[in-house]
Amino acid sequence: MPNPRGGAAAPALTVVGLGAAGASLAWRLAGTGVPFEVVEAPAGSGRRSQDRTWSTWGPPGGPGPFGPLVAASWPRVRVVGPDGTVVTADLGAWRYRMLRSTDLDRAVRERLQRHGVAVREAVVDDLAGVAGRVVDTRPVPVPAGGRTLLLQHFLGYRVRSRRPVFDPRTVTLMDFRTPQPAGGVAFGYVLPTSPTEALVEYTEFSADLLTDAGYRARLGEHLERLRVGPHEVLEEERGVIPMTDARFPASPDPRVLRWGANSGSVRPSTGYSFSALQRQADDLAVQAVRGGPLRLPPAHRPRHLLMDSLVLQALSTGRVDGARFFVDLFARNPVQRVLGFLDGSTTPGEDLALMATSPRVAMLGTVLSRFPGAGGVVGLRR
Ligand SMILES: Cc1cc2nc3c(=O)[nH]c(=O)nc-3n(C[C@H](O)[C@H](O)[C@H](O)COP(=O)(O)OP(=O)(O)OC[C@H]3O[C@@H](n4cnc5c(N)ncnc54)[C@H](O)[C@@H]3O)c2cc1C
Repeated sequence: MPNPRGGAAAPALTVVGLGAAGASLAWRLAGTGVPFEVVEAPAGSGRRSQDRTWSTWGPPGGPGPFGPLVAASWPRVRVVGPDGTVVTADLGAWRYRMLRSTDLDRAVRERLQRHGVAVREAVVDDLAGVAGRVVDTRPVPVPAGGRTLLLQHFLGYRVRSRRPVFDPRTVTLMDFRTPQPAGGVAFGYVLPTSPTEALVEYTEFSADLLTDAGYRARLGEHLERLRVGPHEVLEEERGVIPMTDARFPASPDPRVLRWGANSGSVRPSTGYSFSALQRQADDLAVQAVRGGPLRLPPAHRPRHLLMDSLVLQALSTGRVDGARFFVDLFARNPVQRVLGFLDGSTTPGEDLALMATSPRVAMLGTVLSRFPGAGGVVGLRR
């Protein structure tokens, strides 16, 4: 295989993909003296990930080194029950934050350029042609072998309304006044950036995708429910994120570290990965500076993965009413405990406290269903 960089010395490390994972690692490696390069699929190539917004939450300063790139942040979150009951929570020093992938892409490329790191635009189909160690962040198909696979699928509009209708200090994480699918859950999500502008999404965790018209109808109904009134749609955002307890296999090639959504960094119960990727990127950058083979730092703790697996199964089998489950979680716990759990930072004591507020009979039934003779598992068994 010819050297695709035209004869220059091979870098010690190639990062394939400049999405959330690749950009997080590249940012940290720039200026460390580790010789590396990045290969990213060209825009319009069909492999390039679509632009998106990444939301995350936590203490001041972050996420990771990207605090200065935060496009909007909120001190309060709320959850709305099917009957319109509102649970609002003040985040204290924490913030719910949103970054735009376009801002991150631009900032990382500028930083790499300043440090003389090449970003090659190419579609990588075969890693045999990539020299040295490789961190491969390209997407992979969802692996088989999990107990449950739900899809988090959504359509969002960034809207501008004529009248001031949004509260720019409060994110609506989940508004369950939407019709609920069997074996899953559906909700509206609102990230307001001014009294007249917000990203409003319709999201489902369920087995089957909707048609395009289906998403538009559900989102239109939700905009009416919010009494947004006459508005323009400035942008659309859509996505499908697998929520699964399947394990993502490592690359069979020892010089290739598969990392990102392709290695299970997405939290199965939430579809979020951005803050787990920051923790992993910190660790990987330290390893790369030290030299030697790179080892994948775990994205999530085993007990959190077990809890997620039970929640996914309980949702998909209909054992728990998803809307009630999430509303109760927020109503019966301090918000930092819930968000800390969803982000993987809770202690075992906090996890026990959370479990004590979950629907115990349904969750126990889910646990028992895993033991032969104690009741079969129904639903999305794979
Ligand atoms: C629309 C959407 C919104 C999301 N919002 C959130 C959120 O708010 N918060 C959160 O925590 N998580 C969110 N997620 C989940 C998850 O965090 C993201 O999917 C995240 O981008 C995963 O990071 P990644 O680096 O693994 O993959 P990506 O960000 O998709 O990066 C993969 C990179 O590889 C490149 N690539 C692909 N194929 C090739 C190839 N053959 N050759 C070269 N390059 C290639 C792509 O162009 C891309 O840059 C969202 C997911 C989606 C789809």
